[in-house]
Amino acid sequence: MLKKFFSYYKPHKRLFIIDFSSAVFVAILELAFPVAVQWFIDKLLPGGDWNKIVTIAFLLFLVYLFSTILQYIVSYLGHKLGINIETDMREQLFTHVQRQSFRFFDNTKTGHIMSRISNDLFDIGELAHHGPEDFFIAIMTFVGAFVIMFNINPELAVIAIIMIPFLIWLVTYCNIKMNNAWKNMYSRIADVNARVEDSVSGVRVVQSFTNEEFEINRFKKDNGSFRLAKLIAYKVMAVTHSSIYMMTRLVTLLVLVVGAWFSFKGSLTYGELVSFVLYVNVLIKPVDKISALLELYPKGMAGFKRFLELIEQEPEIKDRPNAENIKGLMGDIQFNDVHFHYDDHKSVLEGIDLKIRAGETIAFVGPSGAGKTTICSLIPRFYDVTEGSISIDGIDIRDMTKHSLRSQIGIVQQDVFLFTGTIRENIAYGKRNATEEEIRDAARKAHLEDFIASLPDGYETQIGERGLKLSGGQKQRLAIARMFLKNPPILILDEATSALDTETEKIIQQALNELAVNRTTLVIAHRLATIRDADRVVVVTEDGIAEDGTYTELVNQGGLFSRLHNIQFQEV
Ligand code: ADP
Ligand code: MG
Repeated sequence: MLKKFFSYYKPHKRLFIIDFSSAVFVAILELAFPVAVQWFIDKLLPGGDWNKIVTIAFLLFLVYLFSTILQYIVSYLGHKLGINIETDMREQLFTHVQRQSFRFFDNTKTGHIMSRISNDLFDIGELAHHGPEDFFIAIMTFVGAFVIMFNINPELAVIAIIMIPFLIWLVTYCNIKMNNAWKNMYSRIADVNARVEDSVSGVRVVQSFTNEEFEINRFKKDNGSFRLAKLIAYKVMAVTHSSIYMMTRLVTLLVLVVGAWFSFKGSLTYGELVSFVLYVNVLIKPVDKISALLELYPKGMAGFKRFLELIEQEPEIKDRPNAENIKGLMGDIQFNDVHFHYDDHKSVLEGIDLKIRAGETIAFVGPSGAGKTTICSLIPRFYDVTEGSISIDGIDIRDMTKHSLRSQIGIVQQDVFLFTGTIRENIAYGKRNATEEEIRDAARKAHLEDFIASLPDGYETQIGERGLKLSGGQKQRLAIARMFLKNPPILILDEATSALDTETEKIIQQALNELAVNRTTLVIAHRLATIRDADRVVVVTEDGIAEDGTYTELVNQGGLFSRLHNIQFQEV
């Protein structure tokens, strides 16, 4: 998994090298500083040469300047590296999700994908930036500082390091506590977010039940839990920091006292003593850093694992290697002994044989749950047949590219999905390079013109989130306009008018009839009045296709369809 992780550094190799080597330089300068001080005190001070001191001070200034630039590079370019990797991964994830098949979305929660794309990737980016760099630098400074200290005075070096194991224990212990505290905090903020999302998207229900007070109180509770969780996290953090502070001072004090004693005995110079005190800080800093990494690493890697799980999931429906780009389909559809099930334990279609001629309008009727929508979603390969085959114009649909197949099939459903944006943008979704003329033409054919003309902003009217500002009939007409633009030879209308009142249905039906001209059209409908003009009616039940014929034929046959017919037209 680490190998896969590092493969994401590849496109940013240069950035990584610059950042990494700057960090190494900074560490070296930091390591060298106490030695310089020691030399200053022991060698330079006794000489009393003012000019020399000024020269040294100037050189030191140059070194500091250099070090400042390096600090800037490490801080800025390091984060840039992390963000770049995070952005690459996010794009890869989004692209991957776009290519997934319907079954993937049947089984994956939207919130799940959202949290991969935001939280997880943030943790991964942090790890990508800090992980290798901090780890290497920490080890290097720790070992470096100890080696230098050991060279100056082995006994004092051992005394300085004696407390380190205890410090490591302390830091690790605090880290586990802190980890739990953060984890708790994250799940509390997730609760708060979920509550906000729920109340805001459901605000119409909230207000119609006048439950605002109730919502506010529920929110207060979640918000309070979040506050508490975050407070605990900060408390643990404060304990950690002050403990580390105290440990550092204790070690410093110990080194100072023992060092003073060595100095009295004459085995340690003043300069060495000062540099030792400074090294104690250099020695302890990496321990702190490593402990932070111990927190970052499992978090980032867990996120990366979840990321890989998604990324390595192959799309179920893919183009065959020899799939062809078939253009200009006539729309002659044939089902050959088609079997299908969504999941293993329940078969939905068993041995469907069906022939639909090009240009024909065919209606599917039958009880809800019989499999009408399923039959239609097999044609654009939203799912693949489990057994048997489907062909269009004599070509197996699996031998066409997904893109060429789907771009020649249009689907209008009961619940229209519109995107946040303007009316124009939503119509143009049917053909992204559509001209102004084509868009207006489509709107006219969908009987939308008068409505658009009545709006102050016309085509530029914002339709709200998912078309919230439009009525059901207006949304449906927008969907039809979109379809006129797409202009596919095969059209599927899945209960497109079922949610509308009878008056609106009539207008929409008229637009749909115009849309169906010169196309192979599959209509799924509940109200039989809407399929009177169909060339053929197919009755689908849970056992498969029960009846197949013209409207009048089926009524006269006296089967299921004639019973449905009698019920509906008696009631009206
Ligand atoms: P109809 O359109 O005739 O009402 P459907 O084709 O929607 O029926 O559904 C046929 C059967 O398949 C039903 O039992 C339904 O529960 C099941 N089904 C539909 N969609 C899915 C899905 N995405 N995953 C699993 N089962 C499904
Ligand atoms: Mg259906």
